[in-house]
Amino acid sequence: MRLSRRQFVTAAAFGAALGIDKRLAFVPPAQAQKTPDPTKGFYTYKVGSIEVTALYDGIWEKPHDPAFIKNASVEETKEALVKAGLTRDFMPIPLTVVVVKAGDRLMMIDSGSGGQWQPSAGKLAANMQAAGIDPAKIGTILISHFHPDHIFGLMQKGSNAPTFPNAELIVNATEFKWWTEPGRVEKLPEARKPLGTRINAVFPSWKNFKLIEKEAEVAPGVRLVNAPGHTPGHAAFHVSSGTQQLMISNDTAYVPALLAPHPEWQGAYDQDGPLAVESRRKLIDRVIADKMMICGAHFPFPGAGAFAKDGSGYAFTPVQA
Ligand SMILES: [Zn+2]
Repeated sequence: MRLSRRQFVTAAAFGAALGIDKRLAFVPPAQAQKTPDPTKGFYTYKVGSIEVTALYDGIWEKPHDPAFIKNASVEETKEALVKAGLTRDFMPIPLTVVVVKAGDRLMMIDSGSGGQWQPSAGKLAANMQAAGIDPAKIGTILISHFHPDHIFGLMQKGSNAPTFPNAELIVNATEFKWWTEPGRVEKLPEARKPLGTRINAVFPSWKNFKLIEKEAEVAPGVRLVNAPGHTPGHAAFHVSSGTQQLMISNDTAYVPALLAPHPEWQGAYDQDGPLAVESRRKLIDRVIADKMMICGAHFPFPGAGAFAKDGSGYAFTPVQA
């Protein structure tokens, strides 16, 4: 396989971060991302002694929309997709959830869509079963933010009954308080009102939420990282074990085909665009400086990869399942 200069740079950086794990293979984006739906919906890799399992929930083949990126045209976004080896026919937004196993402790990051987001998603439960993970054994769920594709899996369709009643739900206090403060729903834009209504009807009565005030350690080796902008309390989670580190970036870098080369692009999904850009650059710069691997909820499955600096932006190299 021939790698371009930029792929070689990222592959080398990633190799340095992950030198000992031979199960990860680098592929040029053109080959890695051509077929978005994976044949196997789970994938396991190691961060030191911690085991990470990526579980595929599905993909939203979003029709192009001029409002999707505030400061780029549809043509520019199509061009970025093609450069990453993706189709230009639609905006591919895959969704992957990770389960982290540290010792005998099982933690999940976000909950997927619960089949209540896009009809093409909702595969998480089946893929969890295929991976041999018992949902009843998940003791902790770390929640990045309160968007449907990340929290609807916590609530059953129709009844809103908790899917994981015994799990501790850890969330940034800023996020929880922003969504549930009195008068919030009325202030939300129309399109977000149903989400706000559901959150306020369900979450305040749940007893298993644990609100985190600072960038605290939330489990041994796992620390909350503030990455606001996408939502007011959007959080990433930093995992370290031995000499290896993983940044669970959630929606900070959203679809890297767009935001690696153009970190300055502001998505319609970013509530505070300029702050989202600032958080994105800060997080990716840290990941590069500390030679970490990174995963993201909307990265191409299995949702992990490496970043390298590339001019004023970044180059992203995904790992192949
Ligand atoms: Zn998302």
